[in-house]
Amino acid sequence: MKIEVYGAGHEVGRSAIILDTGKTRVLLDYGVKIEPDHVEYPLEFQGMVDAMILSHAHLDHSGYVPHLFSELTTTVYTTPPTLELSKLLWEDAIKVAKLRGDEPPFGREEIKEAMRRTMTFHYYQPFMVSDEMTVEFSDAGHIPGAAITRMETDEGTVVYTGDFKIGKMRLHSGADISNVKCDVLIMESTYANREHPPRDELEKKFIEKVKEVLDNGGKVIVPVFALGRAQEIIDLLVSSHIRYPIYFDGMGKKATKIILRFPDYISNYHRLKKAAKKVIWIKNQHQREDIVKSPAVIVTTAGMLQGGPVLHYLLRVKDDPKSAILFTGYQTKDSPGRKLLEEGILEIEGTEYPTKIQREYYDFSAHAGRSDLFEMIEKADPNVLIAVHGDPENVELLAKEVKERYGIETYAPINGEVIRLDL
Ligand SMILES: [Zn+2]
Ligand SMILES: [Zn+2]
Repeated sequence: MKIEVYGAGHEVGRSAIILDTGKTRVLLDYGVKIEPDHVEYPLEFQGMVDAMILSHAHLDHSGYVPHLFSELTTTVYTTPPTLELSKLLWEDAIKVAKLRGDEPPFGREEIKEAMRRTMTFHYYQPFMVSDEMTVEFSDAGHIPGAAITRMETDEGTVVYTGDFKIGKMRLHSGADISNVKCDVLIMESTYANREHPPRDELEKKFIEKVKEVLDNGGKVIVPVFALGRAQEIIDLLVSSHIRYPIYFDGMGKKATKIILRFPDYISNYHRLKKAAKKVIWIKNQHQREDIVKSPAVIVTTAGMLQGGPVLHYLLRVKDDPKSAILFTGYQTKDSPGRKLLEEGILEIEGTEYPTKIQREYYDFSAHAGRSDLFEMIEKADPNVLIAVHGDPENVELLAKEVKERYGIETYAPINGEVIRLDL
């Protein structure tokens, strides 16, 4: 058995891993890495694949899938919500590339072809991708539709975690790791070095801050990622009886509509539906001008301020010390969000604006924290661990620690590396 790494080796982003059993060759995810001024693609691989498995819709896993169809034909396997959410992001990626004056990595034809060539399966519905390989998805507890993939082959069982979280969130009751026992575990390692704060305490602190700002006459701007985080936050705000208007803007709106079409993929459909009804959906520029005039909460993309309506709102409230921006997701190094959070400087298309707005970060991560990662390893009880989807220090740390603690073979591959396993 061979594991070939074309992306997500020593990095978070552009996941692209090939599992080759000798009889079946499967591509696991095919994502992009979005840097502030450019997009990075996976390293090129040679030859064909029998199948492509897409773990979830985030662009670092799905963003290069349509490109596959400009060169070869294969079948993509994923869950129904992942396909619909990916399509939303693929179409947006074309728009964003054009706005930036970049050549999009694929066109509408490739998106259509990707849709045509995809077969969807629900969690716990096994399917065969070749004579010797049976695949089954289970809930990864990360975003709606996200799957942990179990592949049973003549050569042994391989589990690919994708991104996962065991702890409970508002949208998900946590990853199902009851059936992850395997020979080879390919696991994300994003937070190998730390834990996330307990979710209930974090929610309480966040809501207290929101209410404090509003009662003081300020506006609260909450930048969110469109998939998962946007829905978590509107659900939380509406459930917390905020006595001021809650506005909802950006791509999270379309994502919410899609997610609500798949009630089985979220833990409390009725609560999210109620939240989506209660928030005020922003439809045009005219409304945007109006709502920054009195205390309100504005939930909008982009999560790291790389674009989207959030910039419009920030430009209008940046000098108001009574207002606040409350980040709900990790701000990568060099992102405009990190710059505002740490330095108080709002950067839009190269222009820097000093700000007086209050700035705070709340760790609403949908990834496994350190103890989740170890729980996964203990449940999977593998002979081999392959640590991917983490910064170099995190994947190295995890591989070293797991080897010492459990005495199993561990790898923290770099991109381009091929791991040959004799199980
Ligand atoms: Zn993800
Ligand atoms: Zn990811």
